[in-house]
Amino acid sequence: MEKDLAIAIDLGGTNTKVALATRSGKIVWKTDFATASFPDPEQWIRKSMGEVKKAPLLKKGDYRFVGLGLGAPNANYYSGVIAHAPNLPFEKGEIPIRVLLEKITGLDCKITNDANASALGEKLFGGAKAMNDFFSITLGTGLGSGIFVQGKILYGSDGMAGEMGHTNLVPDGRLCNCGKKGCLETYVSASGLMKTYLEFSEPKRTAHSALQVYELAVEGHSPAKKAFQITAELLGKQLADMAALFSPEAIFLSGGLTKSGSLLYDATLKAFNSHAMKHHKNKIAIRASELPGQDAALLGAAALVWEE
Ligand SMILES: [Zn+2]
Repeated sequence: MEKDLAIAIDLGGTNTKVALATRSGKIVWKTDFATASFPDPEQWIRKSMGEVKKAPLLKKGDYRFVGLGLGAPNANYYSGVIAHAPNLPFEKGEIPIRVLLEKITGLDCKITNDANASALGEKLFGGAKAMNDFFSITLGTGLGSGIFVQGKILYGSDGMAGEMGHTNLVPDGRLCNCGKKGCLETYVSASGLMKTYLEFSEPKRTAHSALQVYELAVEGHSPAKKAFQITAELLGKQLADMAALFSPEAIFLSGGLTKSGSLLYDATLKAFNSHAMKHHKNKIAIRASELPGQDAALLGAAALVWEE
């Protein structure tokens, strides 16, 4: 076994996942626990480290912790703070999580939001190993995005760059959690797809999840098919605009909504090519993330430790 290990933590509103990962991106041990049982951040860190100490492979003693990487909602790489994360059980406001992690673990700790972590994971361990310019888009409850430009993730002046989900799409459109109206993620996400579907569906065919809309679309139910088409059209159009700014080599998609497969990919690619400037038409691949779905966030957190 490789001696050097990264501690990787994926902090989610429901579960916290903790893992040990090698430099080559192999997860050699992992566990999880319910985040809500630890509403105090210091208590949550102690619980996470307590879990790590139980890893059987540490019993041999032949290892070294190189650092700790944390992917979390609203986590800021520069400030080391989790700011106003609505789905976490911690007290609201700004939590200086990196300082707390370093104090308790004595390790070098890095944090970033989950979407940037996924992009870093794609670069170090996934389909973007040989690329310097690409987008990583996570289509879950919301729309997360990480943008790699000239070999580096784009953080901007304050760690807040690359938030494609909050670019405006529909003037005066749906209200977004960020305080704006008409953001991309209010349309292109599992919850956005549901809302779009419910705008067309008859009361008889109510769907309660994006998965159900998918199943209806596969059955040929036309409002469901239309909802997917609209979602893909909006995504493809916005990606074409983003491509005009950053000229990526490829765009990687991940997250629950991508389980709909070609229903989403084909229509998104078609919309992308119809809205892209001539130079980008049929040149930029829109493909599935090559990170294993269930471990993508953990590999992204580990990548924080291994990137230089
Ligand atoms: Zn927004």
